[in-house]
Amino acid sequence: MMAAVATLDDFARMADQVAATTSKREKVRLLSGFLRDLAGADLVLGTRYATGTVFAVGDPRTLQVGGAAFQNVLQEVGGVGPAELAGIWRRHADIGRVTGDVLRMSARSAEPLTLQALDAAFAAMAAASGARAKTAALRELLSSTTPDAGRYVAKLISGEMRIGLREGLVEEAIGVAFDAPAAAVSRAVMLVGDLAEVAALAAAGRLDSAEPRWFVPLRFMLATPVMDAQEAVARMGEDVWVEDKYDGIRCQLHRSAGRVELYSRDLKNVTRQFPEVAAAAAELQRDVILDGEVLAFHDGRVMPFQALQTRLGRVSPDAALMAQVPVVYVAWDVLVDGADVLLDAPLRERRARLEAMGAHERIVLAHLESVHGAAEVDRRFDDARARLNEGLMLKRPDSPYTPGRRGLSWLKLKRPLDTLDVVVIGAEWGHGKRRGVLSDVTFAVRVDETDELVPIGKAYSGLTDAEIAEMTQLLLDITTADRGHYRSVQPQIVLEVAFDAVRASNRHRSGYALRFPRIARWRHDKSVGDIDTLSRVRALAAVRSMEKEQRVDQDTAV
Ligand code: AMP
Repeated sequence: MMAAVATLDDFARMADQVAATTSKREKVRLLSGFLRDLAGADLVLGTRYATGTVFAVGDPRTLQVGGAAFQNVLQEVGGVGPAELAGIWRRHADIGRVTGDVLRMSARSAEPLTLQALDAAFAAMAAASGARAKTAALRELLSSTTPDAGRYVAKLISGEMRIGLREGLVEEAIGVAFDAPAAAVSRAVMLVGDLAEVAALAAAGRLDSAEPRWFVPLRFMLATPVMDAQEAVARMGEDVWVEDKYDGIRCQLHRSAGRVELYSRDLKNVTRQFPEVAAAAAELQRDVILDGEVLAFHDGRVMPFQALQTRLGRVSPDAALMAQVPVVYVAWDVLVDGADVLLDAPLRERRARLEAMGAHERIVLAHLESVHGAAEVDRRFDDARARLNEGLMLKRPDSPYTPGRRGLSWLKLKRPLDTLDVVVIGAEWGHGKRRGVLSDVTFAVRVDETDELVPIGKAYSGLTDAEIAEMTQLLLDITTADRGHYRSVQPQIVLEVAFDAVRASNRHRSGYALRFPRIARWRHDKSVGDIDTLSRVRALAAVRSMEKEQRVDQDTAV
């Protein structure tokens, strides 16, 4: 039976049930039942909200509502004071529950909000310019929801859905809802990138017609880390392609009919940050979708990532900054070339297409060599480091491009300095020079099976003063419990940390500790789902202790 209009309260009921069960099958059953009853715009919105996002993939709009602004409006709408709100935070540590509790405290006579009305409200919020207009739009929205719907408004605005619905389950639910084979759904997701669009195609029985679309970013193909050349060759075979691993910002470039848009790893539109790349791509003679990296490059040399970093905090750079830190686009893949979709074509053919595209001063191709055996991989690794790049990517020349998948067709090798991507879960006020800023952070990795976050270390060095100031602001915004010296925060900030070694230790709940951890960089482009897992930590610890044993063996053998 088709529901007349879907409301956010319907969605909330389903989502609460999904959150309440740990059974994946049950989650899929609940979501698919919900989706099956939707059609048209409701189906698109229902699917999109189930993935925890507010706008379509590649849509440049953002809500830009900070945690502090949200809490101010919440106090106003719910008629509670800061102390009362802090008390509720201590009870829940979850923005959704806090919002629900606050809204329940005021007398409300809200009509159920339809999904389409919510979409219109989000559009109005994104369009509102200036803090006042945004606050007004948010106030109007929060005043017009029931407490249950309000909980999900808060979750969607903060990007913290947390109902245990990973994308794979939403994908499965789409298949179940519309009787489509899982493989067909997953293929459509790879091709169009947007689950909401895929749901609409599945409902119409048109999954076969899924195709990449200009200016809708596809997910990025991901690489699996390996410890050394030996492991790489063991996994991939003796004959591999190696490319330099550039230390910049991953970027998908769409160029069609003179229009160019750039998308970051998290599928955000970043065109305005790199106007010189966009201008160069506009001059290309072909319509293409490229995969590559934006890299700071000056006077024929790669600049360190820190230089590029100065451009990342800005929406758009001024002329001085563009002159100081010029960037190029290093392309290593072409996914669409004119009318040809090349995802299934072997890398060998895609590379040939890339080479046929013609050279451009600001759009260059990744350094590629075909090598045989581990010793050659090692040599190429040293060459790549000599070119000031981070390490090597190893690729299978016969492999297709699999968007969003981390497979064994691409391996990454970045010895000698290993890094882990971790998420910040707490912070402490600094001392001395760092007084007044939250400079000491506690971070966690993810348990593979359960997605639970387990702490693995603390770090306080590596960021610039400007970054520490920015992070302090954000940490205050996302605080879930303030214990004076230490605050717990929502797991949002992803850091890449470098360290000298990993050891088994009972200092942290993960069972491991890092020796000399330091923050290598703030990964704005990654979210909590992208961080490293406990099994990788375990593997790093195992390799390290194996190396040590070998060294001991060698020492004693003399
Ligand atoms: P990581 O960020 O450590 O997970 O390493 C994977 C990243 O390496 C990709 O997301 C790209 O941003 C980057 N990268 C640099 N050079 C290459 C290359 N030649 N091929 C693919 N990825 C590359």
